[in-house]
Amino acid sequence: EVAAVSPSGDSSSGIENLVIIGSGPAGYTAAIYAARANLKPVVFEGYQVGGVPGGQLMTTTEVENFPGFPEGITGPDLMDRIRRQAERWGAELFQEDVEFVVVRTNPFIIRSSEREVKCHSLIIATGANAKRLRLPREDEFWSRGISACAICDGASPLFKGQVLAVVGGGDTATEEALYLTKYARHVHLLVRKNHLRASKAMQDRVFNNPNVTVHFNTEAMDVVSNSKGQMSGVLTKRVDTGEESVLDVKGLFYGIGHTPNSQLLEGQIELDSSGYILVKEGTAKTSVEGVFAAGDVQDHEWRQAITAAGSGCVAALSVERYLVSNN
Ligand code: FAD
Repeated sequence: EVAAVSPSGDSSSGIENLVIIGSGPAGYTAAIYAARANLKPVVFEGYQVGGVPGGQLMTTTEVENFPGFPEGITGPDLMDRIRRQAERWGAELFQEDVEFVVVRTNPFIIRSSEREVKCHSLIIATGANAKRLRLPREDEFWSRGISACAICDGASPLFKGQVLAVVGGGDTATEEALYLTKYARHVHLLVRKNHLRASKAMQDRVFNNPNVTVHFNTEAMDVVSNSKGQMSGVLTKRVDTGEESVLDVKGLFYGIGHTPNSQLLEGQIELDSSGYILVKEGTAKTSVEGVFAAGDVQDHEWRQAITAAGSGCVAALSVERYLVSNN
């Protein structure tokens, strides 16, 4: 049973109304809505991505598709603005990773290295990380030739009109490859196995597209650069013969999937087979009453800043309703 929450959002019992875990577009948007609803949300921002709060967009340069910024905005600038908006309305922000969560009993228990907080409701907005190949020069070329998001970066001047490569053999990789053909001169799909795992429909679309060449049994080994330090190719290796060669491309897209950051909740709420938090369709509700999820941690399909922000809004409004109906 949920203890009383006063209308001001202050709880007399030392139990917070709402804890939000995560500081990407989903977590901060949830914080803005919850703070404006006077719930005095406590946000654990974390610092897992790049050692700073702000989530995945802290690792990118220009964001060209977030509404309201016709000239584009850098990822860090966008996240700083959303963060300040949450702070302005009174969200309490802690730059700490949550290490431990108990949602089997209510109030829920949230513990970081610095503190333990009890709360009546919880929004999980811990995001996801694109899986990486860990190529030797990957960090050097991340966002400077290597990308994990065709929708985000395909139209960028870095890649437009160029020959590109995509790594992977599943639906993500085939979708990325097909999407990139809108802008690229040609796309090479590098597949380690001797077959594609993608759906038959996607396979047909790839094989029928003259602008995509599929290389089976082929592994990306590293990035090759020119004398100006720009990406000029990918070193590849045939897994069957061991033969190495350089494919001349200006960009390398990873389509090998994402890892949702749901480990904290493992065994406590329902996850799908890939670890994404399951929400009831069209809502932010998880399998545990009072626990809501927003953003990439529950979305393996769209994975955009605006969809994450939208679901953060839904989660916060859902919390407001939940607390009122349980008061
Ligand atoms: P995230 O942004 O992943 O943030 C999750 C947050 O939770 C992080 O701050 C993390 O530190 C925190 N966290 C995780 N675990 C814990 C814990 N235990 N305790 C506390 N905190 C924790 N989308 C676009 O719409 N346009 C673009 O141009 C675009 N470009 C991109 C470029 C790159 C390089 C990448 C990687 C992604 C890009 N995306 C873009 C996708 C977009 O960044 C994501 O869809 C969006 O950030 C998801 O938001 P989120 O709030 O769900 O999670």
